[in-house]
Amino acid sequence: MKSEDLFKDAKNYLPGGVDSPVRAIKPYPFFALKAEGPRLFDVDGNSYLDYCLAYGPLVLGHAYPPVMETVSKQLSNGSAYGVPTENEIKLAKEVVKRVPCADMVRFVNSGTEATMSAIRLARAVTGKNKILKFEGAYHGAHDYVLVKSGSGAAGLPDSPGVPEETTKNTLLAPFNDAEAITSLVKKEKDDLAAIILEPVMGNVGCIPPKREFLEFLREITAENGIILIFDEVITGFRIAKGGAQEYFDVTPDLVTMGKILGGGFPMGAFAGKKEFMERIAPQGDVYQAGTFNGNPISITAGLETMKHLDEKFYQESETSGLKMRRGLENILEDASLNYQVAGLSSMFQIYFTQSEVWDYAQAKTADTEKFNTYFQTLLANGVFIPPSQFECCFLSQAHSPEDIQITLEAMEKGIKAAEK
Ligand SMILES: *Cc1c(COP(=O)(O)O)cnc(C)c1O
Repeated sequence: MKSEDLFKDAKNYLPGGVDSPVRAIKPYPFFALKAEGPRLFDVDGNSYLDYCLAYGPLVLGHAYPPVMETVSKQLSNGSAYGVPTENEIKLAKEVVKRVPCADMVRFVNSGTEATMSAIRLARAVTGKNKILKFEGAYHGAHDYVLVKSGSGAAGLPDSPGVPEETTKNTLLAPFNDAEAITSLVKKEKDDLAAIILEPVMGNVGCIPPKREFLEFLREITAENGIILIFDEVITGFRIAKGGAQEYFDVTPDLVTMGKILGGGFPMGAFAGKKEFMERIAPQGDVYQAGTFNGNPISITAGLETMKHLDEKFYQESETSGLKMRRGLENILEDASLNYQVAGLSSMFQIYFTQSEVWDYAQAKTADTEKFNTYFQTLLANGVFIPPSQFECCFLSQAHSPEDIQITLEAMEKGIKAAEK
């Protein structure tokens, strides 16, 4: 069956025809057949250079042979045990070695579970209830954080079914706004357990922190007995071997991870200083559990992936990211559009706006109709980026300079189409 017919069929059985909102590409999503390296192939006979990469996990590209081989070997030995494996210790050691704030790790199944559990731990450790998140930040789909959230929810910031009693404990501030934080902390510090943030916002496009903003958050939280949580589900293992905390040299109290950590399989984790992590059950009293926690398939895939994320990988991420962003800027210089090219390392996005983009409100000034024309033109020319202005595009190790050149040519067509 072709994608169009599959989608019609799917809508009868899956709400909206998909299993996650952002996948409902208009008029219908293409259905995947297979993927390899930088390319995704659909059931209609098309292939795409892929900059969505499953929304971030695939830093080595699709079906990276060493990962696929190691996973195949593990598969023949079983897929879940309900007892520990040696590889969990190995991967935990790898995380501790790489990530500055990590002394101990708990492996879970998704980024959502990671932030939910890290917030619970922060509340337990401080004995306080409120948390502060940034407008447009996405920390997964659970109730504490589904307030002015980014990602698929960019046009739908809140959700029915989330009790007010839950979100009254979730405070909001604009990203990169030290003054707003200072006054909120002054007022709320006796109730404020944690500040949680994406150190580089990756769910409303791509918004880097202003210089010193992360240092500022580190200081104000330390001075006021507030736990600082970096949600590195996107940035972890992507922008540096130890994530954003290494890249910007600011060490939080707790970190949440996911996406890349599972090497393309479902996984999340949270980690932090020993004094905090020792509170997690069964060592401590803060409950956290999961049937598939530390799943041997995901752990094996993550462990193999880490072997390939070396210095050379991070240097190449910088180079290919720069090539992509400079190429885009060159094209846009000659265009009559207002635009911002954003990103760092292997992350990038364009906003069609004249406003600088440092927070959610500024991101929302972008012309989403122009973005959609750009997206559709790219797709028609064999390039797949996330279908929303409020997502981030990713490069992988599998994207060659030639692939980037082909992509920039398609992007030039996309920008010309958006200009009309
Ligand atoms: C994707 C994402 C999550 C949620 O991870 P899931 O595995 O989809 O539950 C949390 N935080 C950030 C920053 C993310 O990008």
